[in-house]
Amino acid sequence: MIEKIEDVIKIEVSKFRFSANIYLIDDTLIDTGFPRTAGKLLNYLKNKKVSKIVNTHGHIDHIGGNSVIQKYFRCKIYLYPIERKYTTLERIIFGAPEEFSSENVPEKIKTEKHSFNVLYTPGHSKDHITLFENKERLAFSGDLVLHGEAREVSNEVEIYRAIDSLKKLKSLKPEKIFPGHGDVFYGYEVLDEKINYLENLGEKIIKLHEEGKNIKEIVKIIFGGERFPYIFIKNYFSAENLVRSYLIVKVLNR
Ligand SMILES: [Zn+2]
Repeated sequence: MIEKIEDVIKIEVSKFRFSANIYLIDDTLIDTGFPRTAGKLLNYLKNKKVSKIVNTHGHIDHIGGNSVIQKYFRCKIYLYPIERKYTTLERIIFGAPEEFSSENVPEKIKTEKHSFNVLYTPGHSKDHITLFENKERLAFSGDLVLHGEAREVSNEVEIYRAIDSLKKLKSLKPEKIFPGHGDVFYGYEVLDEKINYLENLGEKIIKLHEEGKNIKEIVKIIFGGERFPYIFIKNYFSAENLVRSYLIVKVLNR
């Protein structure tokens, strides 16, 4: 599904129940979807100009088309470098990504008509960046701002860093937030909603923990227990991960 929002072309690709957003602004591609949707993406881009790719982070659903697009356009790929290994589960769900060559993302990304500051916004993952343009207050926010209320999360999530990153983005008052999944957010009120939800949830979790409840019990009290199918992939993706992420730092701080 292709949508044009002023200078931004939003390309939504989907596979099974999953969908991901790719954005083309001038000659710059932001994220590349799944390995299994790379061919479709390339077909769409063939008569366009792509001189670079920027990845908001290294999850498979954001870098999956890197290799195919790089081979065709011989373009550079910028990302925040960390060592990353994909789990078998990720490879099964999203497809196995092919090799590509990348460089550390610089502090600024310039396209033909726009100039973006690269903000380090960890929390969802350690390598998460957001591209922000001051002039039109555009933010390409990857998985920093997701639709719906956080419940099941990956074991990579560091919730306090995520909240800080949301606050950092809010302080810049973005007018359009282009997320890695789902519809564009207009205005930054959504950031207040996310921050409030996550902070209130944290207060509840810490209170229950101080009353002596363990992680499993807290999941049961707050969410009514682990949902299907997360019960089977608890270590990778679950509500327990979310609860644990609130407790890890608190315990370390003591
Ligand atoms: Zn992600």
